Amino acid sequence: MPNAASQVLKGQSTLHLTPKDGILDLIRSIAEKQESSEPFYILDLGVVERLMSQWNSLLPNVKPFFAVKCNPNPSLLLALSSLGANFDCASCGEIMAIQSLGVSSDRILYANACKSVSYIKYAASVGVNLTTFDSRSEIDKLKKWHPKCELLLRIKVDNKTSWREFGSKFGALDDEIMPLLCYAHENGFKVVGVSFHVGTKQSDPKAYYETIARAKAIFNMASELKLPAMQILDIGGGFQACPLFKDIAAEINRGVEAYFCEEKNLSIIAEPGRYFAENAFTLVTNVIGKRVRGSTMEYWIDDGIYGSFNLPAFDRTSMLAKPLFMKDDDGDRSGGSNFQSTVFGPTCDSLDFVLNECELPEMEVGDLLVFQNMGAYTSSAATKFNGFNMQGFPTYVTYRNPN
Ligand code: PLP
Repeated sequence: MPNAASQVLKGQSTLHLTPKDGILDLIRSIAEKQESSEPFYILDLGVVERLMSQWNSLLPNVKPFFAVKCNPNPSLLLALSSLGANFDCASCGEIMAIQSLGVSSDRILYANACKSVSYIKYAASVGVNLTTFDSRSEIDKLKKWHPKCELLLRIKVDNKTSWREFGSKFGALDDEIMPLLCYAHENGFKVVGVSFHVGTKQSDPKAYYETIARAKAIFNMASELKLPAMQILDIGGGFQACPLFKDIAAEINRGVEAYFCEEKNLSIIAEPGRYFAENAFTLVTNVIGKRVRGSTMEYWIDDGIYGSFNLPAFDRTSMLAKPLFMKDDDGDRSGGSNFQSTVFGPTCDSLDFVLNECELPEMEVGDLLVFQNMGAYTSSAATKFNGFNMQGFPTYVTYRNPN
């Protein structure tokens, strides 16, 4: 029987768990000091620094533009900025968030292929001059409101080996590419490169290699059409901080070497989100209710699917739940048996459950349930449904674990 510290939920992998000595003591002391118990996050900047140095050593020629949508926590953004990252913004609000950190506009890629007129006007007014497109109507809007903008053509990728595919919504089809390049040129735009996203949590390193080959064919097409030479290859996101990243980096480097080694003045950029954010954040929730049904334990915690565990974007397979017992008047409870358990979120929606049919040691109201690897598409998609999170969600504590 695993003890509480090594508890792994059914069907979940331990891949992302690194022993973070000291974090449980830190959590306990923060929780004890809280006047009213609320869920909170801990950001470990040591993780972010180690991931950046891994990126720099495995992909030294690829400049990361962090996808702000994944997690706009200001401490994370500041840390990434000082570590040399640039930023992928998808909206006016994200551009403002990056500018408020003192980051200059030339470090922002407006990576949304469909932008509203008011957001285009804002980008033009603050000098965000690089964006993606995949339709004629985007060119029409940009011509009117941001004619000096430089463009990356987003191409459609078949993302079958990713967890969440983007191809059904984003990217030009093969037979649309030449007409779009010509239309952009006729309207006075410089298409400076090609952009793609192979889908989030991409599990097949070859997906990058193959799409890099397709991008090269578009660079060639532009030169055959006598359009200005393309200079930017944007390989998008889809990365995870796991052992597979090494293989993915190797395929990217192999693809660039095979197809772009003779390309002069080439800049290669990427839009990683999950890679930098997922493992850096730990979520601490409070057990606020308990019900015993035969041999099954049911718990309520104070965060759920309308908060950090939102359904559409968040993938639960990487998260890892660990109880942290708060009261010690019953003696040491850490060696107790596990029970079949369900964990509900706090709202009145019956869909709002966080864990189903998992094994957990018995907890009491007042204990904490700690979730690791919670930085990707969690708090950034939280809502105020049912009157929860009204004061702004969530609070963060930042620390740096050097290990
Ligand atoms: N770039 C774009 C245009 C995206 O839509 C996304 C995610 O939705 C990302 C980058 C980040 O992707 P990931 O978190 O999988 O790296």
